[in-house]
Amino acid sequence: MGKDKDKLFEQAYEEAVKRYQERTPKSAESFAEGCKYMPGADTRSAVHYHPYPLTLEAGKGAVLTDVDGNDYLDFLGNYTSLIHGNAHPVVAEAAAEAAAKGTAAPMILPEQQALAKMLVERVPSVETVRFCNSGTEATMFAMRAARAYTGKDGIIKMEGGYHGTTDQVEYATDTVNETPEGELIKPVPDYKGISVNAGKDIYIARFNNGRSVEEILEKHADKIAAIIVEPVMGGAGVIPAKKEFLQDLRMLADKYDVLLIFDEIQTLRMSKGGAQLVYGVTPDITAMAKIIGGGYPVGGFGGKREFMEVYDPTKPDSIVQSGTFNGNRISMAAGKATLELLDDAAFEKLEKLSAALQEGLEKVIEKYGLPASVTRAGSLLNLHFTPEAPVDYATAQSPYKHLLKLNHINLLNEGIFTADRGTFVVSTVMTDADIEQFVKAFDKSMKMIAELI
Ligand code: PLP
Repeated sequence: MGKDKDKLFEQAYEEAVKRYQERTPKSAESFAEGCKYMPGADTRSAVHYHPYPLTLEAGKGAVLTDVDGNDYLDFLGNYTSLIHGNAHPVVAEAAAEAAAKGTAAPMILPEQQALAKMLVERVPSVETVRFCNSGTEATMFAMRAARAYTGKDGIIKMEGGYHGTTDQVEYATDTVNETPEGELIKPVPDYKGISVNAGKDIYIARFNNGRSVEEILEKHADKIAAIIVEPVMGGAGVIPAKKEFLQDLRMLADKYDVLLIFDEIQTLRMSKGGAQLVYGVTPDITAMAKIIGGGYPVGGFGGKREFMEVYDPTKPDSIVQSGTFNGNRISMAAGKATLELLDDAAFEKLEKLSAALQEGLEKVIEKYGLPASVTRAGSLLNLHFTPEAPVDYATAQSPYKHLLKLNHINLLNEGIFTADRGTFVVSTVMTDADIEQFVKAFDKSMKMIAELI
């Protein structure tokens, strides 16, 4: 972008922020108050954006209401976890009933078995499953199972792949790598504070590039326990794997005697059996979270009995999986109610609405001749300021990336709640009219942005 364009962008952004501030004085006050007690007034970095995030009054169905009384169509669903919108009555009732019965105890809870059974029935790779409290824990325990089973420490992850916040996977998640093609990518920690030692067991490959995975395995298979991959990279911008890539990973895992872990924490919402059912590729272990807790804290990991058995305390040499609130009754009951509502008709509706949203957004992009694209995997969508849909982390980079944050504020000013990285999520409680409202708001935003490019 030239200097004049930079200036135009700054002006447009400042004006959009000013409008936002005029609409949300109580959120501004709440932010200032919160900063007295909490760094940045929140407790989850992704929530923050300039000038301050909104403070929620209530979420109901497809609508979030802030403390100033503004309504927003919720096109983020708490970062892909609320597949039936906010406070769905059936889910809320299941959670309330569970809460009244006592939420956690050092005993087996029948609700755990009920949710486990559903996952075993629905997700092809899952023969047995265990629960924890977050997606971060789910990938951690999945990788630990692989290490215990193979007796090796190394993990291959993809550049741009996000698997939660443990040190071992906070490498090359959001750092553009300068490594030339053909050389092993250096694992760069995502930010300071990440253990440098953790990086010694991490090997970084390129998404949608089976050869880059095999290059690592050719040299280091004797040290590698597992390959971990999102079938659709979520945080990197809803970038779907090519089917051949996942097939290559399956083949390579078998050939080099390492386990294949799918991180389906976002993609489980693609079908009853997640992305693995859609792609027809079955991993050894699957990490899950988000929708399986129905809006309450949850994580789960499951796979072939043989691999999961490392956690079986009735077996010799078993390893430990702790967590005071693992499988708490509220998350289990809400998760079960959520999955029960996710029948074929629900998936059909999600597909129809999501396809209409993608088509609507693409028409707007075409109308203004913008160098932009929309990627989609089921009800997960992402806007990119790249003329072609990206296929990996490197191709998702764009000189116009900053326009995402302007679009984000523009959409908020029009009553559409999304993520500032351009992620849009459709829920089962949305209607055609909600999609139309989004497309209309997007049109207004893109009209302004077209003048800045
Ligand atoms: N893996 C993926 C693909 C995710 O999208 C996320 C969360 O956004 C995680 C792991 C971590 O899950 P949690 O935030 O529940 O720890």
